[in-house]
Amino acid sequence: MRFLVIFLLLFSFALNFFLIVTGNIRFFILTGAAVLPIIISAYFDTKTISLVTLFGGCLCALVPVFFGASPFFIVVIMLSFLAAYIIAGESKRMFLEARVNLDSKIIQSKEIFEKLLNENDKSDNFNKGTNRESEDIENLYEVTKRMSALLKFDEIFKVLCAELKNTFEFDDCRIINIKFNRGSIQINEIYNIPIEMRINEAKTYDPKIIEIVCQEKNTLKMASVKTETEKLGFSLPRRVETVLAIPLFTEGEIKSIVIAENVRPEDFEKFAIVIGQFALEMHKVKLYELVEKLAITDGLTGLSLKRHFLESLKKEIKRSSSNRLKIAILMLDIDHFKKYNDRYGHLVGDSVLVRISEIIRDHTREIDLISRYGGEEFCLALPETDKEGAYAVAERIRVEVERENFMAEGEFTRATISIGIACFPDDGREAVQLIDMSDQALYEAKNSGRNSSCIYKRSA
Ligand code: GH3
Ligand code: MG
Ligand code: MG
Repeated sequence: MRFLVIFLLLFSFALNFFLIVTGNIRFFILTGAAVLPIIISAYFDTKTISLVTLFGGCLCALVPVFFGASPFFIVVIMLSFLAAYIIAGESKRMFLEARVNLDSKIIQSKEIFEKLLNENDKSDNFNKGTNRESEDIENLYEVTKRMSALLKFDEIFKVLCAELKNTFEFDDCRIINIKFNRGSIQINEIYNIPIEMRINEAKTYDPKIIEIVCQEKNTLKMASVKTETEKLGFSLPRRVETVLAIPLFTEGEIKSIVIAENVRPEDFEKFAIVIGQFALEMHKVKLYELVEKLAITDGLTGLSLKRHFLESLKKEIKRSSSNRLKIAILMLDIDHFKKYNDRYGHLVGDSVLVRISEIIRDHTREIDLISRYGGEEFCLALPETDKEGAYAVAERIRVEVERENFMAEGEFTRATISIGIACFPDDGREAVQLIDMSDQALYEAKNSGRNSSCIYKRSA
């Protein structure tokens, strides 16, 4: 087809050139006039082409005849017309083809563009996602850092509360410390978040959740409480839509369970990470507290050691000073203990020390400070107690020790103690000074025959 068009086109040009050369300008113009509308019309629709073709054909055929043209020119004009018609048609076809091509290209480009937009959106979302992820990780790292800097439960608990409140949506979260007592689970303590306090009452459904977690030894994730509680055979209040219960282990045993309500299921994992971090920090706190306790506690009697006692006494003096309260200081020493050891051995001597420390505990209050001050010396500080009150306490302890049967080598033995008493602020305002005075009073008690209590007197 293309060759035919080119041929007709060349042929038409040749004929028109011939018309010009032979001086038949009129026919040339007429031919052109007939062909032009055809070419123009070809760019519109096929209907117009057919009409114009018909009109142009008649015109081209009739006009030369009217002007007396020979049949040769009529053939020339008709051929010219045919060429124009085919060229116009072909051009139209090519134009349409090009347009269809262009349209499909536009559609393709649009699709590609939309795809790109989509991809962009996706990558935007991905970026947002990865940004969120990295933000989350950064946050977790920050929490870890903040928790690691602390070594007290209360402080770590506060950081945990703040972090959970800032990062997650949830209604209620409880840290429940449990204990296994002859096969049954006992609830020890409950710490509540977001209220940040210790509470006494567990929710009625907590024991069931605790039981399941202890059985499974795994995190319980209930993304849809309604359906899952039915399967597990218990029910929760209607407001509870999701439950996340995370066990916290110490030396392979569940020591606490964190129960959180209405955490979004998509946050379960991150919530568990923060709680896991808290558990690690708590483990550190427990170790630290243990080391601290070992450092301030006497291994044999469990009483405070001298250094810690002095620190506590200084604090107590400050408090009592501002509240105008008295503190009684008691120094206790076992009588002739060297002899006792020599006779029964150090191990028996140790058991006497332990028993005496128990008697002291039994006769003092929670607020009283008791220490193993030296080898077989005990120092006590009784807040809000005057000399007379302290003397009464000292006598009760002394008499109790005097009456006690200490077992040694299968026989009952006896031991006695002497006690010296001083008082804040009557005898002094400094801890060491007061202890020194109670020691002086103890010296008096020893001098007066032992197994006695003696109050410090300035003249003494
Ligand atoms: P007194 O106080 O009545 O003057 O005579 P004492 O024999 O008790 O004299 P002192 O208080 O100076 O003696 C301290 C003795 O306490 C020496 C030691 O044998 C004994 N002792 C000190 N620490 C311990 C201990 O941890 N375990 C045992 N078993 N004995 C101890
Ligand atoms: Mg002594
Ligand atoms: Mg002694």
